[in-house]
Amino acid sequence: MIRNLADLALNGKTVFLRVDFNVPIKDGQITEPHRIDSALPTVRQILKSARKLIVASHLGRPDGKVVAKYSLAPVAKYLQNLIGEPVQFAPDCVGPEVEKLARAAHPRIVMLENLRFHPEEEKNDPAFARALVALADVYVDDAFGAAHRAHASIAAMADFFKDKAAGLLLQKELDYLSRVLVHPDKPFVTILGGAKVSDKIGIIKNLLPKIDTLLIGGGMAYTFLKAQGIEIGRSLVENDKTDLALQLIKEAESVGVSLVLPSDHLTGDADKKNPLLTGANIPPDRMGLDIGDKTIARFCEEIRRAKMVLWNGPVGLFEVEPYNRGSNAIAQTLGANTGIVSIVAGGDTVAAVGVAGIEDKITHLSTGGGATLEYLEGKILPGIKALEESA
Ligand code: AMP
Repeated sequence: MIRNLADLALNGKTVFLRVDFNVPIKDGQITEPHRIDSALPTVRQILKSARKLIVASHLGRPDGKVVAKYSLAPVAKYLQNLIGEPVQFAPDCVGPEVEKLARAAHPRIVMLENLRFHPEEEKNDPAFARALVALADVYVDDAFGAAHRAHASIAAMADFFKDKAAGLLLQKELDYLSRVLVHPDKPFVTILGGAKVSDKIGIIKNLLPKIDTLLIGGGMAYTFLKAQGIEIGRSLVENDKTDLALQLIKEAESVGVSLVLPSDHLTGDADKKNPLLTGANIPPDRMGLDIGDKTIARFCEEIRRAKMVLWNGPVGLFEVEPYNRGSNAIAQTLGANTGIVSIVAGGDTVAAVGVAGIEDKITHLSTGGGATLEYLEGKILPGIKALEESA
């Protein structure tokens, strides 16, 4: 059982909030603040009753050393403007000076320096975890994006707290993703794309028994097509995965899943230029870079019939026009059919939804990259396990 924020009595308490504020920063400016904005409801909820809020995150990969460009100082400043209340930025995340800032009555919010400036964070070191524990009475985890990491602030630390809970963002992730795993609304359509089959094997195997229709596009589709003897020209392919692709096709058939592969393609030449629509077989000098018109129509028809849709991976080279047509059409179809419970996962797919301008029409945009994939593969995430307590 995992407790919600609402289950905790926070009056007069100091709350340690682990967030994932691993945002891109260029020349001291945050270029994409979505992850910080998403944690705002949790921050506000805690501030309604808590005495003090300690916010902690990692940023980038400083490898256990202090690296100026990975300082969370710009994030603390952004957070202060967002909340409209002073945020004290601590020069470190542990130690007597930080403990003093955590005890002080004002300001109410302290943002710690990057947890990964200490090598002990990524080693899940219990002594380092205890030093973090010393700062607070209650532990709240809202860092779904880091839940697949057994790090001190995510795993070891939670064990020391009697009072611990999932933040609102983490709770929302678990609500939607567990619904996909346990009892998806039917018909349940899954759209998979992206570059490689090898990244998606775990998801396919775990979700297959739940899926009604599986739409496969993107670079990964060509391994499936080649396995069936279709000409794929110079398209992306994993030659060592064709047997596995055939096995997955058979498995889908045996559990009654309708697996739909592209039947036409938008292709490019060796330089990905001169776009041209082709039928099922791709000429030897060309590469499949997006699903074709017939496939777009078929995919969108399947989507419109669904009650729930999970989408992970763009169905084409969406960063380069015109190979974004397929992903865009899928996004627009989801945007126009808001009766469908839509769950979009993965950085590139969320970006594709952003390009289509329909983010606010999607039921749930998952904030976790690796964490979302591992959860959907059925793995137990250290960050989720650490929050569990016996009923
Ligand atoms: P992934 O990280 O596995 O989800 O892959 C996402 C990447 O796959 C994006 O950069 C897409 O541009 C790329 N991609 C999708 N479809 C294709 C394709 N047909 N050919 C080459 N790259 C593709």
